[in-house]
Amino acid sequence: MGQQAMVMQYTKETAEVLPNGGGGAAGAGLGAGLGISLGQNMMNVNKQEPQQKIIICHSCNAENPQGNKFCSSCGSKITQNKKITCGNCGNDVPEGNKFCGSCGNSMKTEYTCAKCGTINPSTNKFCNECGEKRA
Ligand SMILES: [Zn+2]
Ligand SMILES: [Zn+2]
Ligand SMILES: [Zn+2]
Repeated sequence: MGQQAMVMQYTKETAEVLPNGGGGAAGAGLGAGLGISLGQNMMNVNKQEPQQKIIICHSCNAENPQGNKFCSSCGSKITQNKKITCGNCGNDVPEGNKFCGSCGNSMKTEYTCAKCGTINPSTNKFCNECGEKRA
């Protein structure tokens, strides 16, 4: 533990002592290394591409990409799915999602009161029946 700290300190001091030329080369090497690892991370993200959400037009049943405000087929206003606010992080989660996309909190539309067992809407912060704060 202590030894490792010493080594890190030594490395830092050495880098500071190096003339500009040497320091520059070391910096470039470090930068390239970081760039590669960042690129790999991005590739990993691309691999697990989320499926594009499709919204069905309620008027003509055409499929529209999520985000369209109007149907690309008939021009009707598209009603977006209702959003539920995550009770854990406050993120807006589309109704029907089982888990918050931001924090992974369970987004069940109902919860059971820990005190009296009453089933309450998950939007409730307190039990409808006994007023117990949602766990
Ligand atoms: Zn339509
Ligand atoms: Zn959340
Ligand atoms: Zn209760």
